[in-house]
Amino acid sequence: MFAAVSRGFCLAILLLFADAALALTGETAEFVKLANDVYAYIGKRNDANAMVIVTNQGVVLVDTGNSQPDTRDLAAKIKSVTDQPVRWVVISQYHGDHFGGSPYFMPATLVVHDRVAKEIAAMKPYQVKSWRKRFPEKAEQLQNLSPVDMLLSFPDRITLKLGGKQIELFYVDDVYNTGDVAVWLPESGVLHGSFAAYKDRHPDVRPDYSHGTTLTMLKQLEALIALKPRVVIPSHGPLSNVTDLQAMVDYVLLARQKVRTMMADNLPLPEIIKRFHMNEFKDWDRATHFDWLAETIHRELSGLGPIIVTTRDISATGELTSIAEAGRNLTLRTSDGKDVRLRVTSDTDIEGAADRTQLKIGMKIAALYKMPDDFNAALGFDVIELNVKP
Ligand SMILES: [Zn+2]
Repeated sequence: MFAAVSRGFCLAILLLFADAALALTGETAEFVKLANDVYAYIGKRNDANAMVIVTNQGVVLVDTGNSQPDTRDLAAKIKSVTDQPVRWVVISQYHGDHFGGSPYFMPATLVVHDRVAKEIAAMKPYQVKSWRKRFPEKAEQLQNLSPVDMLLSFPDRITLKLGGKQIELFYVDDVYNTGDVAVWLPESGVLHGSFAAYKDRHPDVRPDYSHGTTLTMLKQLEALIALKPRVVIPSHGPLSNVTDLQAMVDYVLLARQKVRTMMADNLPLPEIIKRFHMNEFKDWDRATHFDWLAETIHRELSGLGPIIVTTRDISATGELTSIAEAGRNLTLRTSDGKDVRLRVTSDTDIEGAADRTQLKIGMKIAALYKMPDDFNAALGFDVIELNVKP
């Protein structure tokens, strides 16, 4: 008994130190004024950031908050500086932590790249259902609305001219750019750098190229650096600048060089993944991204396209035994004692809890999740439906 308690205690201490060593933004989100009518929402603990531009024709919001409570917090912070409604929601990258809060701001116009518009048009019924019911307080506005009704999309660049302000949206063309859009304010020198502008966080690129490739990142970073921004809002992490963008270029080049060297030594992929690290950037968040980063670079350097992942739907019931990242990552212990690592996405249809942040250890859960064939689901299996049982 004592041993178990003290082991748990040591683990807690270790986790505390592990956390303290990482470069993370604060425990609560910050709302920072960057120029006249321009604000950054800096997500808590390196969660997704957002950008707010106030004009006398409405607010332009870039990205929508990491989870429902964050989206509500973001909306409240916008209200604290203007009475203007949010009329445009720009999605800088089509991932749940950037797009997931969009229903809260409807009926605003959703401004996305053409590729993202195509993805939204292909949303499955469960995804539209989950989009609609994410904010119960908006149920009335959303009952007949689907994101596809609200779209304004563009192929490479578009300039919004609102209330005398110029807001430039651009996409860096690349076959594997999944629709990332940077937002540039030439008058104030403020840039939302979209996916590529990571700071203090290991990038989340994946062998299915669903977040682009490292080469795509380099192309994007080159275009961002050429603008010479005064201040950069990265997708995640604290406010940054051109020096940080350059650091990201160095990071990507070093990561590619490491994999290239191991390939030249004829190491097989599993060994490359095992040996790969980015310890030169030790205090950066999310070392869990290393496996996929190494495998993605290996594919790129081998001249391969994305892994095409096929999945089967699997159901499981059991009890939640661990919860991390505010309910994003779960461990479900099934009745026969097996641990299943699950990942709640912004598309997950949750019943019996308001949102993923309300999940608690010990809850009885029924989950329907996607099991990929021949693919390392390094962050867990994506959940389609999650039912919390009474
Ligand atoms: Zn993100």
